[in-house]
This record gives sequence, structure tokens and C-alpha cells, in this order.
Amino acid sequence: MKPNVVTFHYTLRDPAGRVLDTSAGGEPITYLEGAGQIIDGLDEQLRGVAAGTHCVVQVPAAKAYGEHDAAQIQRVPRAHIPVEGELSIGDRFQTDTDRYAPIVTVVAVDAETVTLDANHPLAGVDLTFEVELVAVRESTEDEVRHGHAHGASGDAACES
Ligand SMILES: [Zn+2]
Repeated sequence: MKPNVVTFHYTLRDPAGRVLDTSAGGEPITYLEGAGQIIDGLDEQLRGVAAGTHCVVQVPAAKAYGEHDAAQIQRVPRAHIPVEGELSIGDRFQTDTDRYAPIVTVVAVDAETVTLDANHPLAGVDLTFEVELVAVRESTEDEVRHGHAHGASGDAACES
């Protein structure tokens, strides 16, 4: 059976109810089921949900951006940091000029060293998605072959 292509609007909240992200007022998200285009826990829980459904989906951290991993926190000499000028707690930067280099967050600074956390900012956070399913359709052969959705109608141009 072919996977579905699902289009939805969402509002993402943390456990305190703060809105972290929302598609409201913008374009809805379209994804191919099981292709890793959205976080696993949301993909799994939206299987078989009909278009027009409005629901709340709880995704534990392990099925979202992963548990917070203490081994991803490292103290490094200030001189090794590829950033000029002052560094403050909460600053984020890439560890290399490569566009796929990991993004790290500064969690502590002293005279000689900087402590960097390479965890995703939402690692360890249980997420709540308020979801409105806009459309659900069967995927095309091209989409299955490419491993991603080609837009809400399926006819969007694709380079791959
Ligand atoms: Zn494609």
C-alpha cells in the first residue's frame, strides 16, 4: 500500500503551554508518511487520521528531538571557537563553515573556556501539537521514489 501525502496546519507548544512554532497564517506543511519529513512521533500518530480532523497530539521527547544527552555538552578553550568578539549564554552558531555543520548553543562562558551544548534546542522537551488535517491523498510513484512529498496537489516541480 502506498503511503499517504498529508497536508496539515499545526501549533506547537512546550509543556508550559508556550507556543514554540505555528503554521497559522502561513502555508500548511505537506509531507510523505514515513519519509522522515516531520518528527517520527507526529508522523506515527497522524496515520489514518482523516482530512478535516482537528486534534491534539502529544509527542514525548524521545519521539521528537530526542532526549537531552549530557555527552553533547563540552567545554572548549575560547581560542578554539570560530566566532569573533563577545560570546554570551544562549548564543548559537555553527561549529564550522560547512552549511551542515552542527549548531551549538553557548551554555557557560568564563575567561578561558566556553561550554557548548550540541543538543537540539528542543531535545528533552515533550511536545504538544494542535493539528488540523487539511488534506490527505495517496502518494504518487515519483514521490515514493524521491522519498518526499511534491506539494499539496502533487504536481509541484522537483529537481531530484
Ligand atoms: Zn521529488
